[in-house]
Amino acid sequence: MEKIQNFIGGKYLDPVKGEYLDNYDPGKGEVYSKIPNCTQEDLDLAVRASEAAFESWSKMSIDKRSRILLKLADLIEENLEELAVAESRDNGKPLSLAKSVDIPRAATNFRFYGSSIVNFSSESHVSEGFMVNYTRRAPLGVVGCISPWNLPLYLFSWKIAPALAMGNCVIAKPSEMTPMTAAMLGKLVNESGMPAGVLNIVHGEGSGIGQAIVESTATKAISFTGGTVTGKKVGATASQQFKKVSLELGGKNPNLVFADCDLDEAVKMSVKSSFTNQGEICLCGSRILIESSIYEEFKERFVSEAAKLKVGDPFDEQSDLGALVSQAHIEKVQSYIALAQEEGGKVLLGGNRLPGNGYFLEPTVIDGLDEKCRTNQEEIFGPVVTLSPFETEDEAINVANATRYGLSCTIWTSNLKRAHRVSHQIHSGIVWVNCWLLRDLRTPFGGMKDSGIGREGGSEALQFFSEPQNICIKL
Ligand code: NAP
Repeated sequence: MEKIQNFIGGKYLDPVKGEYLDNYDPGKGEVYSKIPNCTQEDLDLAVRASEAAFESWSKMSIDKRSRILLKLADLIEENLEELAVAESRDNGKPLSLAKSVDIPRAATNFRFYGSSIVNFSSESHVSEGFMVNYTRRAPLGVVGCISPWNLPLYLFSWKIAPALAMGNCVIAKPSEMTPMTAAMLGKLVNESGMPAGVLNIVHGEGSGIGQAIVESTATKAISFTGGTVTGKKVGATASQQFKKVSLELGGKNPNLVFADCDLDEAVKMSVKSSFTNQGEICLCGSRILIESSIYEEFKERFVSEAAKLKVGDPFDEQSDLGALVSQAHIEKVQSYIALAQEEGGKVLLGGNRLPGNGYFLEPTVIDGLDEKCRTNQEEIFGPVVTLSPFETEDEAINVANATRYGLSCTIWTSNLKRAHRVSHQIHSGIVWVNCWLLRDLRTPFGGMKDSGIGREGGSEALQFFSEPQNICIKL
């Protein structure tokens, strides 16, 4: 059975204490590889390697650093097929999705920041005849990047790329449930010409090596994507040492459908935003709020379209949904379907696990629940969506805002004024109007309320991974 290794100082290494965890294939429900369960000893090696590499990496010309990141992007594209197969097997997502979204986006992340760093500028202010003030931005040193399992290489690279571009060295940990593509990245990192020790990848449990990365006095910033409960702990630990911390956390995203929308498009895209990646995207819309005059028509068409989705083998080109990531996760999602029924909800579609050992669940549509119930308040993170009617625009806004989360929202309307008016009153980091999941990478990305603090993306991320210092000169 394959044993994944850590990637430290440019070398693949076994964990110092020789401890391993099981890595499951969610489509088969069986163990298919072993992953290091790292301890403090492995972190010490990674810290030593990154501290040794920092001086030369941070002083390397921006042009050269940029070219290494651009080369890494090219190498990911050249190895797309192999990486996509690994991602799909590790995570359970359809291979078609890994090929068209996850792996191409990982390449884009390195290309985007490889280019951004060349164009990144800092501010300068001149008070004519009196003073000139400029802001220098220096890399922080060694930083920690911790990512979740739902979009493995996509989110792993989204954190690492700006940190490296800015001249930091990185100690990164992918989720223990989806370590494979991060492990494969090491080989490409070496081929790209990145010096040894600049990027170090350690594996294992969040409560073990993840917590150790956050607690380490060597890491000067933590960029974390994951659940809100974990994020709270990471934030509290990091703040003890006044570390910079960016938290990208969970969501319970509303999808507002007004009667004046293009209904064909709203139905089609709402099915997509509910069930893509088995509903395991933090930005999936999980509460669809529909103006009452079109409620019945939307419901009928939405259920009929969702019923056409095929759930099955991630490697079958016909599969729209693959497997959920783990036994524990499918049990959690199923418990929410049971809870929804206890709370008075009616299952209009799905609700069942497919027979066999894989973690396959039908797309599930529920209605008849109010906004205060747990089903409509807590993040389920699976192929489960609720439908509810609203009477007025104000009611739609109030219900949309009535959770602790504030990650994203989608609005379906053909009324331009309404689009702006409603967007401005929604408490979420991103609002999509008549679309979903589109984003120019130059814009800041992140959530409000319990969906996180800080913003990633664009120059925000380069600023996060640097320390500003103001220099003021009297003229
Ligand atoms: P999670 O359980 O919070 O884990 C996220 C990462 O943190 C994993 O690598 C995990 O390691 C690690 N971790 C766990 N405990 C830790 C600790 N005490 N200290 C440091 N690291 C620790 O989240 P998940 O279940 O993997 O991911 C799903 C969640 O991520 C959902 O809530 C989803 O909404 C959110 N998410 C948010 C965004 C966004 O951009 N806002 C994007 C994607 C996902 P292990 O895997 O080993 O436990």
